[in-house]
Amino acid sequence: MMSVAYDFAHSPATEFMARPQHLLIDGRRVPSSSGRTFKSLNPATGQIIATIAEGGEADVEIAVAAARRAFEGPWRTMRASERGRILMRWAELLKLNAEEIIELESIDAGKPIAATTRQDFPAAVDTLTYYAGWADKISGDVVPVREDALTYTVREPVGVVAAIVPWNFPLMIGMWKLAPALACGCTIVMKPAELTSLSALRIAEFALEAGLPAGVFNVVTGPGRVVGDALVNHPDVDKVTFTGSPGVGRGIMKGAASNFKRVSLELGGKSANVIFDDADLEAASKAAASGIFFNAGQVCSAGSRVLVQERAYDEVVERLAARAKSIRIGDPLDRNTALGPVISEKQMKSILDYVEIGQKEGARLVTGGERVGDRGYFISPTVFADVAHEMRVSQEEIFGPVVSVIKFTDEADALRIANGTAYSLAAGVWSRDIGKLQRFAKRARAGTVWMNTYGYTDVRLPWGGERDSGLGREHGTAALDNFTEPKAVWMNLAV
Ligand code: NAD
Repeated sequence: MMSVAYDFAHSPATEFMARPQHLLIDGRRVPSSSGRTFKSLNPATGQIIATIAEGGEADVEIAVAAARRAFEGPWRTMRASERGRILMRWAELLKLNAEEIIELESIDAGKPIAATTRQDFPAAVDTLTYYAGWADKISGDVVPVREDALTYTVREPVGVVAAIVPWNFPLMIGMWKLAPALACGCTIVMKPAELTSLSALRIAEFALEAGLPAGVFNVVTGPGRVVGDALVNHPDVDKVTFTGSPGVGRGIMKGAASNFKRVSLELGGKSANVIFDDADLEAASKAAASGIFFNAGQVCSAGSRVLVQERAYDEVVERLAARAKSIRIGDPLDRNTALGPVISEKQMKSILDYVEIGQKEGARLVTGGERVGDRGYFISPTVFADVAHEMRVSQEEIFGPVVSVIKFTDEADALRIANGTAYSLAAGVWSRDIGKLQRFAKRARAGTVWMNTYGYTDVRLPWGGERDSGLGREHGTAALDNFTEPKAVWMNLAV
C-alpha cells in the first residue's frame, strides 16, 4: 500500500506555504480588501497547506488600475531590449530557485515531482527565455503602396491582459500566457485557479526581484465566478487569455463582448490516438498509456480515446491494461511515483461517476476504476474496452486517468470516429504506411497531429484548437499576434 507523508520536511517551499498568502498588486503583497481568505489543500492527503487571500471585485479594480498605470508608464515605454533583459533575469532567478518552485508545484497540484522536474518546470523556463528573446524583435513592415507616401506598420501591445489559469499545469500554462504578453509590452492581472494559486504567487515575487516594475504582473487569487468574472467584464481590460472548461469559456466570450475585448481560449479535448494494425504496437501502446495516464489524465490533449484497428484491437487492450496495472501510484514527492492524485475530491467524484456511466452504457471495465486508499484523491489507471463511439465516455472530457478503447475498421472509419466529438485539439496516428499517416493528418480536425508519437508540445509550435477546444492559438509567433495590434501609418511625402 502506498504511503504519503503528512509532515513535510522543512524546505524553502514549506516555508513559503506557511506564510499568509496575500494578493500581489502593484508590486506589494496585500490582504484582500474584504480580509477574507480560503484554504488550499494538498490533493495527496486532503490536508490544508496554505491560507490564501480571497480577492473580490474591489481587488480587481485596484489591480487593473495598477496594471493600466504600469502599461502607460514604465513597461510599454521601456526599451524593448531592456524588457527582454528583465525577463531573462527572471528566468535565471527561477532556475536558481528551481527546487523550491518544483516542490511547491508538486505539493500544491499533486504532481509527481519527477514529472514536474522533467516537464513542467523546464517548459515554463523555456517559454520565458523564448519570449524574452522575442521582446526586441517584434517589428512591423514597410509596405510600398504609392510613390508619394511612406506606408508602414508597427505592432503595438494590446494593453492590460487578464490571464485566467487552470489547475492542471498552473506554472507552465501560466507562463504560456505571461511570457508572450510581457514580451509584447502588455501588463497582466493573473487569476490562478483556486486549487493551485501558490506557484503564481511565488514566481511573481521572483519577477519583482528580477526588476519587473510594480504593476506589470499582478496576481489576484480567489473564486473564478467572482475574480475571473470581474476581470472578464472590466471595461479597462483589453484582452482575456483563458485555459479551462468550455462552459466557462463560453461565458468569457459573452462577458468580453461588453467592450470587445480580444479573447483567446484553450478549452480541452477528447483527443483520439489512432493505431492502425500495421503500426509498431509495442511503441504505440506505450505512448497511448503515457498519453492518458500522464498527470493523472488531467491534460487538455490527453489521448482519452484510443482507436484501434480490428486486427490489433485485443493485443492493444491487453498491452494497455498491463501498463495501467504496472504504473506506480503514490506520494507526489517520491521521485519514483508516476501517478499522483487527481486535483480535488470533486474531480475524483466526477471521474468515478464516469466509470459508473461507462459500465452502465455497456463498456467493459478491463482494469482500474477505483479510488486508491482512503485519503487524498487517488484513482487507479482505468481502461475501458468495447467502447462505442456514441457512449458518453467516448464523447465527454473526463479529465482523469480513464481511457476508452474503440475499435475501427478502415481509414474512413478511423477518421469518422476521430473527428466525431465536439472537440478538436489534438490527435495521434500510428502506422508504418506514410500515405496513411499523411491522409489522416490532412483530414483530422485537430490543432496538432502527432505521427508515431504522442503528447509533445513546444513553445515554438502553435497550440490550440477549434469548436469546443477553443479559439485562437498560443505559442510561437501566434502568441505575439495575440498580444499586439498592428497599426498602419501613412506619411505624405509630397508636402
Ligand atoms: P474551470 O473552467 O471552471 O476553471 C478554469 C479557470 O477559470 C480557473 O481559474 C477558475 O477559477 C476560472 N473560472 C471559473 N469560473 C469563472 C468565471 N465565471 N469567469 C472567469 N473565470 C472563471 O475548470 P474547472 O471547474 O476547474 O474544471 C472543470 C473541467 O474543465 C475539467 O474537468 C476539465 O474538463 C476542464 N479543464 C480543462 C483544462 C484545459 O487544460 N483545457 C484545464 C482545467 C480544466
